[in-house]
Amino acid sequence: MAGPGRLAIVGGGLAGSLLALELVERGLPVTLVDAAESTATALSYGGVAWWAGAPGRLGRLLHQAPERWRRLQARHGPLGWRRCGLRLHGGGWGRSLLRPPFAQVDSTVLMEALPRVLKAAGVERRRARVVAPPRPVVAGWQLELEPGGSLLAEQVVLAAGAGCRFLAPTLPDRLRISWAGVLALPARPPLLPSSGRPWWRHAVQRRIVQPRHWQRPVLERAAPGLGEERWIVDAGCAPWGEGLLLGQISLVRPGLDCGEPPEAPAMEERLRQGLAGLDPLLADLAGPYRQVPVSFCSNGLPLVGPVPGAAGLWVFSGFGGAFAQVPVLAPLLADVIAGVADGAALARLGVLAG
Ligand SMILES: Cc1cc2nc3c(=O)[nH]c(=O)nc-3n(C[C@H](O)[C@H](O)[C@H](O)COP(=O)(O)OP(=O)(O)OC[C@H]3O[C@@H](n4cnc5c(N)ncnc54)[C@H](O)[C@@H]3O)c2cc1C
Repeated sequence: MAGPGRLAIVGGGLAGSLLALELVERGLPVTLVDAAESTATALSYGGVAWWAGAPGRLGRLLHQAPERWRRLQARHGPLGWRRCGLRLHGGGWGRSLLRPPFAQVDSTVLMEALPRVLKAAGVERRRARVVAPPRPVVAGWQLELEPGGSLLAEQVVLAAGAGCRFLAPTLPDRLRISWAGVLALPARPPLLPSSGRPWWRHAVQRRIVQPRHWQRPVLERAAPGLGEERWIVDAGCAPWGEGLLLGQISLVRPGLDCGEPPEAPAMEERLRQGLAGLDPLLADLAGPYRQVPVSFCSNGLPLVGPVPGAAGLWVFSGFGGAFAQVPVLAPLLADVIAGVADGAALARLGVLAG
């Protein structure tokens, strides 16, 4: 049982973890409940596209993301953030590459650091699945946990990524789920520098490689009108600890549910065909193939704020460019939850669920 005044966050990926750090900094006692399954953050390229834009005022706010990451690291130690090169290819290597400024949060470093950082900050962590939508009770909200019985909290934040829809089925329709897959190489392929493969040179320099015409945002915007499932491959790669992520395939289905995972062998085959367009050698690398559900919002604006009609229940999910959005939005939401700001700033950004 949690004590009075305690706040529970469901979801310990990027969103739940950074929000937990902001809330304890404001003096709130936080319990973070996480099932530690299919965490999108753990398989992410971690690209911090602060310049890539978002609708309206949020786009301008994202320019603060690099500074936020620097501050987080100054306070909590290394979280995997670093400046890194980005190379945007036009489908092959023939045309000259665009080289915008970029940064990356290496998700292997982040996921390893978070348990230590959260503990040091005073966040209580519970490894459990919340198996039903939060139930309103006199003192706040009751969460049914497996394992672990129930947890009472005065306020609850849903930061469960693709699990948010199950926990609050009435969230707006713009919150949707895709499946994203990559080849997750634990080590860089052992090629000779003389092999002359451009992607390999970039991998050695720890740069991210992505297509100039990135299809995933287009697919996300099209999601509400889909009559059947659609998938696309954005061929590229990103450093991932000592290894490399080769991706990425994204699949979106009609409707709002996560559904069963798509058939992994078929998804892997499609991904490998897409990678072959960059370099046939990429398509032959061993893998393994891994896929996770990822929440997004079809209008590019995440859900940040109170769940309408449910006092004390909050949502923090559906990001498009989470590694730029979460570090700038978490402090704003924490101020509102802690009662030191009203929701006006969030309303101006257009991220409220109401
Ligand atoms: C291959 C790939 C590449 C990507 N590249 C980028 C990129 O370059 N830049 C970028 O900004 N974004 C990128 N993304 C997207 C980004 O990683 C995600 O948007 C972000 O990590 C989502 O974070 P989250 O905390 O909302 O969700 P998650 O990281 O998915 O965390 C949610 C957590 O909630 C838990 N949970 C769910 N339901 C329950 C429940 N009922 N009870 C308890 N716990 C529960 C899960 O176990 C999980 O640990 C990429 C994603 C993928 C997969």
